[in-house]
Formats: sequence, C-alpha cells, structure tokens
Amino acid sequence: MAKNIQAIRGMNDILPAVTPLWQFVEDTFRQLMKSYAYDEIRMPILEKTELFKRSIGEVTDIVEKEMYTFDDRNGDSLTLRPEGTASCVRACIENGLLHNQTQRLWYTGPMFRHERPQKGRYRQFHQMGVEVFGFAGPDVDAELIMMSARLLKNLGLADIVRLEINSLGVSEERQAHRTELVKYFEQHQDQLDEDSQRRLHSNPLRILDSKNPAMQSMIESAPRLADFMGEETQQHFTRVCDFLAEAGIAYTVNHRLVRGLDYYSKTVFEWVTDELGAQGTVCAGGRFDGLIEQLGAKPSPAAGFALGIERMVALLEGKNVSVNQNPDVYLIAAGEKAEQLAIVFAERLRDINKDLSLMLNCGGGSFKSQMKRADKSGARYALILGDDEIAKNSIAIKDLRENKPQIDIQLDDYSQIAKLMLNDEALLIDKI
Ligand code: ATP
Ligand code: MG
Repeated sequence: MAKNIQAIRGMNDILPAVTPLWQFVEDTFRQLMKSYAYDEIRMPILEKTELFKRSIGEVTDIVEKEMYTFDDRNGDSLTLRPEGTASCVRACIENGLLHNQTQRLWYTGPMFRHERPQKGRYRQFHQMGVEVFGFAGPDVDAELIMMSARLLKNLGLADIVRLEINSLGVSEERQAHRTELVKYFEQHQDQLDEDSQRRLHSNPLRILDSKNPAMQSMIESAPRLADFMGEETQQHFTRVCDFLAEAGIAYTVNHRLVRGLDYYSKTVFEWVTDELGAQGTVCAGGRFDGLIEQLGAKPSPAAGFALGIERMVALLEGKNVSVNQNPDVYLIAAGEKAEQLAIVFAERLRDINKDLSLMLNCGGGSFKSQMKRADKSGARYALILGDDEIAKNSIAIKDLRENKPQIDIQLDDYSQIAKLMLNDEALLIDKI
C-alpha cells in the first residue's frame, strides 16, 4: 500500500471537535465589528515579496527568516502573507480607499511564518485584524484598545489576560533614542547575546524585548524612549492613557514593549497571558502613521491590531469552555415507507423553523440501532416514524435526555409540530 501523505509541519487540520470553539471566537469577533460599525475587507493570501520587505522591515525576524517566499512561473518573487496589515494597506491604496476619507476595517484569514512549531506557534496560523485609516488623534487608539478589551471580555477571557501599552514616539524621536541606545549597548557589548550582537546596529530597539535572563538588568537600565519624546507625542500618549482610565480599563506601561515589526509609531499595545508559556501574546497592535507613505501613497495616519485565533482557542480550552453543537432533533425512520416520508417531513420542518438543527437518519438500520445513533448524536429529541406511526398517521416525539413518556402528534398537524419545533420547550415538556 502506498505511504500516507501527511500535512506540512506546523500547518494544522482544524478538526470538527474544535471548530465550535473557532466559530465562537469568529462569531464573537464579527458581532463586535458590527457593534463598532467596522467594515470587512478581504485580501489575497499571496502578495509580491517587495510589499512585506518594504512594510515590515528588512531586519525583522519575519522578513529575515520567517517568510514563505518563492518564484512563480513568471519568475516573480511572491510571498505567502505573514500578516495582514501590509496587504490591507496595499489594497486600500490600490483601490483609492484612503484618499480624503477615513476607513474602519477588519479582516480574517490564514497567515504564514516559517517558525519553529510549538504550542501556540504554527507555520500556518489565523488572525483576525482591525485597521483604521485617516484618524490622527488618540481617540481612535483608545477605541481600538477598548474594542480588544471588550472582545476578551465577551470571550470570557478577561481574567487571564492583561494589557501592556507603550509609545514608540515618532521617527525623529526614535532616531535620537537609537543613537543613545547603541552607545549604551556598545558599552555593555560583553553582556549581549548572539542575537543582540547581530541586532546592535541593524535593529537595536528589538534588544529591549529580549527575554534572555542574563541581559535583563542591563536592559532595564538602558536609555528609555520616553525620555526622548517631544510634547506632542507625550500628550498623545497621555490622552490614550486617560481614555483607558476613564473607561475603567486596567493597563501597565511597559517601556520595553517595542513590537516585532518596523512600521509602528506612537501607541503600541499587547494583551498578554501567563497561560500559554512563551507564547504569551494573544493580541497586539498599535499606530503606524508612516506606513502608507512608506508604501508610496500620500501620508495618512493609521492604527490597528491583530489577534491569533489559535491562541484564543487555546485559552478557551484551558478554561474548559465548550460550545454545544448537538442537533436539536434526530429523525428516526424504520422501514422503506417511513424513510420516504421522513425525508420529505424533515424538509418541511426545516421550512417551518430555519433555526432547527435536525439530523435525519441515513443508511437505514433497525429501530434499535437508529435509537443508538440518535443518542450518540447528542440530540435532545428523537422524532420516530415507524410502521405503527404511519398506520396512525402520526409521529412520536421522545425526550432523549429526560425520562418521560413519548407522545404522538398527527403527522399533518404541522402547526402543532411547528410549535414544538420552534424551540418552545415549555410546551413540549407540558405536553409530555
Ligand atoms: P510572538 O511574539 O508570539 O512571535 P508576534 O509579535 O510575532 O508574536 P504579531 O505579528 O503581532 O505577533 O501577530 C499578532 C498575533 O498573532 C500574536 O499576538 C499571536 O496571537 C498571533 N501569532 C503570531 N505569530 C503566530 C504563530 N506563528 N502561530 C500562532 N499565532 C501567532
Ligand atoms: Mg513572532
């Protein structure tokens, strides 16, 4: 026999046992987007490699070592998107959505990064993201953070996450800080690990979020970006903090929070948890006022965030959250005549109540084996159609979860059946 073909490492099948939790996250997010009046945008999964190099930054982990890049049949260098912001900005510029207008957008879909697979870190993973364009003030930063706080609350995860925020200033401020930072790290070069040595002149800011225990106290005393911030930047950050305080959202300012992508400026934030080991960041974002100009369009302020669905689902699993996706009803049909009737009857019930989840017995079987399947399906009720019922022109309803006598209803009494099937449980229970 031929050898089974397996999935690519780090790219997971998401199986029926967990898709209900995925849908819970996705539905909660969609509902949230509606309540904040954001619009959906959908972008391709493949983009020109140049787009990510120019936006994420040449000396970031993503561009240096994590992208799935290949030449297509025309010899063009293409990359499977490692994140959504670059594509979203590209799409908005290309379609004229930024010129003299504002946008509040969301997207969802798979992202690809060639990382070392481990719990909470995969090579194909899924994000839900939000981007706003054309708003320069701190109010929209606060709106985004409050929105992410509400999402975590609606998912029931508020008690296991905490918010960290920081300001990365504007380009000139970062430059001034960078000069001092490099000087400082050069003085402590003997304490820098290999990764940090490499970043010293390419991306020294990233050294600040090194997790290497041996470097912590040295990093803690490094020059702080906050000390290089001008009045405007400082005020912007203070306003964001004030909005959050007013909304009762707890946060800590982490002056070492720098984010892994180059395009951020001013406000940045992360929701972190202790429940997922080293993969502690579940949602992250910030302002990126320079990106649109960097990609060749007229400058426009922008901000956004993205969350990893896998990590949200892992948190829900850790809390033993389960979502009931059992059918309401299992329709049993014993005998050829009953089968014929049942398939039409099932359609009729779905006409009457579109919310009804009805599983029709397929593949025949004895009454006993069908009852077993009904039980296994997790359905609350079995509808039973057998020779006896057909003779009486009726159908039997049996509560599968509570010990009650079954009842008969006339088969053509659709209004009565409709009432029962409209999830009018009280009526059903009464009758039984
Ligand atoms: P990390 O520090 O964990 O590598 P990141 O800073 O690279 O995260 P972002 O690029 O900001 O992450 O992406 C936003 C979110 O997407 C993360 O907070 C995380 O929830 C999720 N995410 C990022 N990379 C992965 C991955 N390889 N597998 C699963 N989820 C991921
Ligand atoms: Mg990463």
